[in-house]
Amino acid sequence: SDFPDAAARLIRAIDDWPEAGVTFRDITPLLSDPQGLAATVSALVDAARAFGPLDVVAGVEARGFLLAPLIAEALGIGLVPVRKAGKLPARTLSESYSLEYGDAVVEIHADAVPEGARVLVVDDVLATGGTLAAAGRLFERAGAVVAGNLVLIELPALEGRAVLGDVPLTALLEY
Ligand code: 5GP
Repeated sequence: SDFPDAAARLIRAIDDWPEAGVTFRDITPLLSDPQGLAATVSALVDAARAFGPLDVVAGVEARGFLLAPLIAEALGIGLVPVRKAGKLPARTLSESYSLEYGDAVVEIHADAVPEGARVLVVDDVLATGGTLAAAGRLFERAGAVVAGNLVLIELPALEGRAVLGDVPLTALLEY
């Protein structure tokens, strides 16, 4: 596939952002390049199909929102947003998780998925795993089944995969 070449050429590392000592992987040049975008969508859709039958793709705010709809539309299934606290208008389920400094909260609508739906949860990067683990708990509480997690990039040094427990994770590349 063209994805490894495109990623090597178009994902850039930003040192000391958002704070000193962090190297941020910036996917915006990958998405703004037509071939980069096409290769990314194709690789994500192939990886999504490998999870077996899926009913819903969930995208995690904010960069998961850039990827999840492309996958859902290609698979012919629906899209559910996992949002930060206070953004969804109807009744919600909430899960909090700890960040390096303080806590974060993610939410879905309580009626976002049907009972037993097989959900693929998508984000751009797996770092410590707190975000995807919290998103997974939301769908379990909603009565759905988290069929898998799919990210563009895994940062294995942060050991986020262990936090996801038994839920399978596919990452298109590692740094
Ligand atoms: P975690 O909860 O796994 O520690 O953090 C994952 C979240 O942080 C993801 O939503 C992701 O967007 C963001 N994130 C952490 N590090 C990076 C990075 O280097 N690049 C990008 N694009 N996002 C990051």
